[in-house]
Amino acid sequence: MGRALIIAIDGPAASGKTTLARRLARELNYLFFDTGILYRAVTWLALTRGEDLHDEDRMTRLVQELDIELRPDPQTGETRIYFQGRDISRDLYSPQVDAWVSVVAAHPGVRTALKDVQRRIALQGGIIVVGRDIGTVIVPEADVKIYLDASLEERARRRYQEARSRGHEVSFEQVLEDMRRRDALDSSRDTAPLRPAEDAFILKTNGLSPEEVFQRVMALIRERTP
Ligand code: C5P
Repeated sequence: MGRALIIAIDGPAASGKTTLARRLARELNYLFFDTGILYRAVTWLALTRGEDLHDEDRMTRLVQELDIELRPDPQTGETRIYFQGRDISRDLYSPQVDAWVSVVAAHPGVRTALKDVQRRIALQGGIIVVGRDIGTVIVPEADVKIYLDASLEERARRRYQEARSRGHEVSFEQVLEDMRRRDALDSSRDTAPLRPAEDAFILKTNGLSPEEVFQRVMALIRERTP
């Protein structure tokens, strides 16, 4: 395939973004950049330090202290996230971080502080960038914009299975409620709310297998490849 593209994938939690992005990255030999990690890391750091997560100035300053490093796991090839040498990958997906991350992500100061970092990485090209506002705010010039969606129940079912397999003790109802709340916060915030870009390809993944989603998106990418 020709020039190295920027592919933006947005959508609500557990809509299948990560599964799709991993598969595309492998197929195209592109980088996979999951921007949710950044918001999760700020949230984790704030919780660890006992900070007030409603305090926008404190949260914005924490971004400057976000000394994280991404390294591939030598066994599985999965990306691991380290903070000052400690592997915090599992902690970033704890129910506590899940419960608070959208509060932190709603602070305009936090979003502005993280925007340049994301743009710099995304503009390298040859990359799949996954988040909530990638096609609308972070890289509106992306070559391909995809917006994945699925019903709340379907997404909660997926996230529940994921959480259990990571060893977190949660109930389905808790996951469903948390997701409902997170969706509402992400979609209603003033700065960079979750919504499809005008030129995004919207794909509802209910009842579609990951393979079907992948094939549809690959067809679109081929169409858009100069
Ligand atoms: O994608 P993930 O579930 O890891 O994202 C966690 C949270 O981070 C989202 O619910 C959202 O509040 C925030 N986020 C965001 N913008 C992004 C990526 C994530 O606001 N680009």
